[in-house]
Amino acid sequence: MIAAALAQDDPTHHLANREYGAMICERADGVLTISPVVWGDPIFDAGGTWVNPGEQPTVPVDIDACGIGSTPLAMIHTHPSTGGAGAIPSWNDAQWVAAINARRGDNHGRIYVVAIDGTSFRIEVYDQSNAGAWETGERGPEVNPNAQPCTLDAVQ
Ligand SMILES: [Zn+2]
Repeated sequence: MIAAALAQDDPTHHLANREYGAMICERADGVLTISPVVWGDPIFDAGGTWVNPGEQPTVPVDIDACGIGSTPLAMIHTHPSTGGAGAIPSWNDAQWVAAINARRGDNHGRIYVVAIDGTSFRIEVYDQSNAGAWETGERGPEVNPNAQPCTLDAVQ
């Protein structure tokens, strides 16, 4: 997923400078799919100027990106950082859980937040049980393989 976004021929496309995200979808036959990766505006433009000082980066993921015949299961997005990144969801991030649950008609909706820390990634999951993390700052369960940070190549 991230590798595809980084293939953009644009110096402002890097994990420390934008949020990247997508929908994880569940087909009627149970197969999981992922929507095309989208991205938000850069924090710094190509000249290094801070585009919107003080503003949090966002990514315009569309809950309908799963298309007809698929149900949203999760929204996944990155939190840009050059180090010491956090995966704690924002208030806006936390709203996704309820929105996905409303579409599904159950409580299985979740968000995966990918914290970027240099060249490592830590993926945390939030659902209805811990979506209050936006307020408490409590870290969600880590879902990396064997709870080890992923390398760039491992996040696709
Ligand atoms: Zn976020």
